[in-house]
Amino acid sequence: MEDMHIHVRDAVDDYSKLKLYIERCIDLGLEKVLFVEHGPRLSKNHLSRLDTTDKILKFKANIERARKEYPSLQIFCGIELDFSYDKDFNENNNKLTDIGFDYVISAIHHYRFTNGRDYLKAIIQMIDTCRFDIIGHMLLKYDWKNCLDLIDIVLDKAKEKEIIIEINTSDRSRWEDETLKYMLGKMNEYGITYTISSDAHSVKEVGYMIAETTKKVEEFNSKKSFLIKK
Ligand SMILES: [Zn+2]
Ligand SMILES: [Zn+2]
Repeated sequence: MEDMHIHVRDAVDDYSKLKLYIERCIDLGLEKVLFVEHGPRLSKNHLSRLDTTDKILKFKANIERARKEYPSLQIFCGIELDFSYDKDFNENNNKLTDIGFDYVISAIHHYRFTNGRDYLKAIIQMIDTCRFDIIGHMLLKYDWKNCLDLIDIVLDKAKEKEIIIEINTSDRSRWEDETLKYMLGKMNEYGITYTISSDAHSVKEVGYMIAETTKKVEEFNSKKSFLIKK
């Protein structure tokens, strides 16, 4: 089992706190985890914990130490970036990611959209203009069926750039079963890799709904349930 989006908050530079996350992951039977924190934020109300080279290097050193101490757990080191329409903001993000992460998650946090189509157009722009590995918590809400053409464009571009799509298990962004089935079918069709991620923001939230979702994904895949007509 994996949980590929875990915020470690102030554990980025506090090894004793990082150990609490790791021990929770091991207790839950997770085998593969991605620890992240936010890079620079577009909104001043949001906190960035990885916005300088110094902070990033400290985080990486702690992850390195954890890998040696807990070799049974596969630990990856990542950063979560805000999508921005601003070129300079993205340029700065690129410089920070050049320091080296296993995975860079990019997601829309700052902008609000009133419908799925505008949101997905922003996701497409994010793929076109930003450098990252995983699309974080892609929102497919009530009107997702009006957006199937745009979902195809997202998947097509993601395939081309070898971008991974996250299956987010948090209450904020979890897809309904019908959406999950559809997306699994499409991701399989396009040959796109996906991660399963809780987007935990505390030790307690680590692994939230991961076992249930992993089981569901396996079940849908094995029965090819996504082929059932809507
Ligand atoms: Zn996020
Ligand atoms: Zn996150």
